[in-house]
Amino acid sequence: MIRLILDKTAESFEQDIRELIQEFYPGEDFEIRTEEGVHFTNTTQEEKNALKQAKATGENAEVNKKSTKNKARMASEITPEGVQDEKIRLSFEVAASEMSLTGVRKDDKSVIKKELYETLVSMTGKELPWGDLTGIRPVSLVSPMVEAAIEKRKTESGSDSVKELTESEIRNIKTSLTKEYCIKGEKLDLMTDIALREHRILNRIYDLTGRTYKEGWSLYIGIPFCPTRCLYCSFLSNTISAWEKRLPEYMDNLRKEIKYTVTEMCGRHKRPLQTIYIGGGTPTALDEKWLKVLMDIVHEECGDANVPILSNETSPAHARKHTVTGMPGIVEFTVEAGRPDSITKEKLQILRAAGVDRISVNPQTFNQKTLDLIGRKHNVESVIEKYELAREVGFENINMDIILGLSGEKLPEVTHTLCEIAKHKPDSLTVHSLAIKRAARLTLERDFWAGIYRAGDENEIMAETRLQEEAEAGENYSLIRHTGTSVSDVAKEKTKFRYPEITRMMMAASYTAEVLNLKPYYLYRQKNMAGNLENVGYSAEGKECLYNILMMEEKHTVIGCGAGCSSKFVLPSKDGDPTHKRVERCDNGKDIKSYIEDVDKFIKRKEELFSLIK
Ligand code: SF4
Repeated sequence: MIRLILDKTAESFEQDIRELIQEFYPGEDFEIRTEEGVHFTNTTQEEKNALKQAKATGENAEVNKKSTKNKARMASEITPEGVQDEKIRLSFEVAASEMSLTGVRKDDKSVIKKELYETLVSMTGKELPWGDLTGIRPVSLVSPMVEAAIEKRKTESGSDSVKELTESEIRNIKTSLTKEYCIKGEKLDLMTDIALREHRILNRIYDLTGRTYKEGWSLYIGIPFCPTRCLYCSFLSNTISAWEKRLPEYMDNLRKEIKYTVTEMCGRHKRPLQTIYIGGGTPTALDEKWLKVLMDIVHEECGDANVPILSNETSPAHARKHTVTGMPGIVEFTVEAGRPDSITKEKLQILRAAGVDRISVNPQTFNQKTLDLIGRKHNVESVIEKYELAREVGFENINMDIILGLSGEKLPEVTHTLCEIAKHKPDSLTVHSLAIKRAARLTLERDFWAGIYRAGDENEIMAETRLQEEAEAGENYSLIRHTGTSVSDVAKEKTKFRYPEITRMMMAASYTAEVLNLKPYYLYRQKNMAGNLENVGYSAEGKECLYNILMMEEKHTVIGCGAGCSSKFVLPSKDGDPTHKRVERCDNGKDIKSYIEDVDKFIKRKEELFSLIK
C-alpha cells in the first residue's frame, strides 16, 4: 500500500496525483491523508467501519480479512490515523502550496504532475512511454494545436485552402508537448501523426456532404446479445438464446428510441446524421430475420433524415449527395460482425444490401488454446472462412480486432496471430491491450488457471507455471526509496514493473501494420492499461473508421440507442470560448430487462440534453 499525504492545494488534484503514481506502481492501493482525515482507494464498508471505530475509541481496530480487497490491508489493523506504518511500502507527501502555481487549474495540474513525474523517474530510474499523461485521449491534446496552427496560417495568408502544417509548425507543436507533458520519442511522434491524420480524414466529411463534422452527429445502435459470453467481457452482453422471446419488444423499443433521437437531431435541430455504427454485443448474433428487421429500422428511421437539411445547401454540388450507404449525407455505416460463429453468408448479404460499408470480423487471437480459454466458442479456421466469405459478398472494408495481453499469451503466441493477420490483409487492424482492472484481471487469471488445471495435463501445468514464474521474476526491477516522515527514509526495496512483454507485443503489432501499409489513425488509453499502453486503430488510406475518431476524440455528439448504450453530447463550453467544448453524458443503464420494460425512462433522460443543443 502507498501512503499519499496531500496538503489543501494538492487535495483537489488527488485523482491526477494518484493515477500518475499508479502508472509507476500498477495494482497498488492507496491510503490518502488530507486535512479532512484518512481514506483509502477501494475502501470496503468493513474498513470504513473499522476506521470510524478506531477514531471513536482511539484504539486500533481489526479488519475482517475476508472483507478486504487488498493484501496489504488484509494483514493490517487500522489505527485511528490509518494503516500501520510497517504496512506502507512507500509514502509520498505532496505540498502543492509550495509550488509555483498560477491558480489556473489546467496549468496547475501540469506543474504538479510534472514535478511528481520527475521525482518518480529519479526514484525508479524508469521513464514512462507517455510521460506524465494519465488521460485516456492523448491525441485530443494535439488536435486543438493542429487546428489553431491551421487557422493561424489561414488568417495570415488570407486563404481558406490551407489544409496541412509545415515541418516547422509540427516541430513547434512537439516541443510544446514535451515541455508540458514530459513526453518524447516514439509516443510523441505517434500522437502527433495521428492528430494530423485525423484532421485530414475528418475533412472528408465536408468534401462528401458540404457539412463539417462539427455540425453533424453520429448514431450508435446497441445490440447487447452474443452467441456465448467471453470470460474477459466487460460489456453489457447476454446470450441471445436467453432473450429470443423478448426480441420483438427489444426491436420495437429500439425503433422508438431511434425515431425520437433522429426527430430531435435532424428534425428539430437540423443537425445532419453523418455516421452510423451498430455494435454490442454482437449484432450478427441476431438471426437473418431479425437482422433484416434491424436494417429496415435503420433505413426507415434514418434513411431520408438528412434530406431536408441538405436540400437547403447553398452548394448544389453537395446537396443530397448519395454515398455508398445509400442514405443521403450518411457517409459511413459500420456493423460489428465480431464473432465468426455468428456470421452466415445470408447475414452478410443482408448487411451489404442495406448499405453497410464497413464490418469487423474479430479474431482477437489466432491461437486456439486461448480462444478456448476465453470462452469464444469458435475455431481459428472459422475466422478465416468468414473473412473470406465477407470478401466474396463484396465487403471492401473489413477490420480485424486483436487483443494483446490475454492470459497465457506470450510474445510467440502474439507473433503467430500477427503472422496470420499479415497473410489475410484486413483493411484495418485494431489492437487492444487488455486493461488490468483489478477484479477483471484476477477473474481472468483464476479462469485461466482453472482451465489449465481442468485440462489435467501435468506437463502443461508445469510448463505454464514455469512461464509465469519467469515472467514474475523478470529482470525488470529497480531501486526505489521510501520517502515521508513515518517510515524509514533509507529503506530500499525492489519493486517490479509487471508488463514489459506487452510493450514488445505492441511493437510487433505496429510492425505488422506497417508491413500491411496500415497507418495509425486513432488511439485511446484505458485506465490501468497493461504496461501503460494504449489501443490503436491502424488502417489503409481511405478505409479509416470515421465513427471511431468522432467518438473517441469527442469530436461531435454521438447518441447511443439500445440497452447499455451511452450518449455523449458535445456542447459549447460554458466559458464562451469557441475553442473549448463541454461533454455531457447520459446512459441507458446496464440492464436489458429494464430497457425492454421501460424505454421511455431512457428517452426521458435524453430530453434534457437535447434541450441544451443550440
Ligand atoms: S463477443 Fe464481445 S461483447 Fe460478446 S461476450 Fe465476447 S467480449 Fe463480450
